[in-house]
Amino acid sequence: MAQRHLSNEIDAASVHAMMAAVERNYTLAHRYFKMKARLLNLPKLELFDQYAPLFEVKETYSYTQSQEVILQALNRFSPEFARIAGRFFTENWIDADPRSGKRGGAFCAGIAPSVHPFVLCSYNDDMRDVMTVAHELGHGIHFYLSGKQTLLNFYMSLPVAETASVFSEMLVFDDLLARLTDPRKRLALICGKLEDSFATVFRQTVLTRFEEGAYAARAKGRLNAEQIGSIWLAANAPYYGDSVNLTQGYEWGWSYIPHFINTPFYCYAYSFGELLVLALYGKYRREGAAFAPQYRALLESGGGMSPKDQMAAIGIDISAPAFWQVGFDELERLVTEAERLAG
Ligand SMILES: [Zn+2]
Repeated sequence: MAQRHLSNEIDAASVHAMMAAVERNYTLAHRYFKMKARLLNLPKLELFDQYAPLFEVKETYSYTQSQEVILQALNRFSPEFARIAGRFFTENWIDADPRSGKRGGAFCAGIAPSVHPFVLCSYNDDMRDVMTVAHELGHGIHFYLSGKQTLLNFYMSLPVAETASVFSEMLVFDDLLARLTDPRKRLALICGKLEDSFATVFRQTVLTRFEEGAYAARAKGRLNAEQIGSIWLAANAPYYGDSVNLTQGYEWGWSYIPHFINTPFYCYAYSFGELLVLALYGKYRREGAAFAPQYRALLESGGGMSPKDQMAAIGIDISAPAFWQVGFDELERLVTEAERLAG
């Protein structure tokens, strides 16, 4: 794990403060799972129900509409961010047309400080696509601003690499939510967001605890598959609590996660990155316009400092449990709203 901390340029104390905060907040997940079981008319959620769509709701947005929604949301945060994102649309820095033979997925390529970034995606008029474009434009703005760094300091380290993208998604998410009046559509949008966040924040911490447990047990001797399965179930138990049935066969769940073999201890960076953004977003909602210049400075610093120093520069101590709790306050706001709408 220490090896991963080194390559992430992050200290163990900050990671442990973050993971302990995650575990203190599992009750939020339990509340959500119980609400979802009620909505699905189930006495208790099965593991395979956790991401089941709630309603057949479809919202369509044309590419032009997506541009309006995204630029408006960004403009509310910072007119400069909207101007930068606007260049992607007007100067054709986005390849958004779906066409035969085109590769799938979506990404933003930051090439070098001297070259503007490009975005690739395949836009299909779905509300999810609006969020995808917002995500990639967040990366785009990040690369654009870190263009003042040298080539060596241009790329951000892994734990902060998704900061700008997820923050941009949050801005657009709140804007989309404000446009929806139908309670079912609102609930579907919030639940989708919460399930994504839970999978990133809670589940990736579970995965990391499993790895710690497996390595600690392995230090005492060789393990067979059943023993690894018990360590896996023990790591999952606090997250699902008594609100989800761990379906038979789940003891093999560890065996399909490629990170455990290819990039040990990679997973905590997902929890770290998502929570960091939620906490930054909470800070923005409390401080309003005063936050935008600090955030801009953060993006501009690219990979020139460690994540801890980058956050310290804008007055944030990532080894302080109180900072991480702000992220959960944001999630709780959404869980409470979901419970209200479900009622
Ligand atoms: Zn991304």
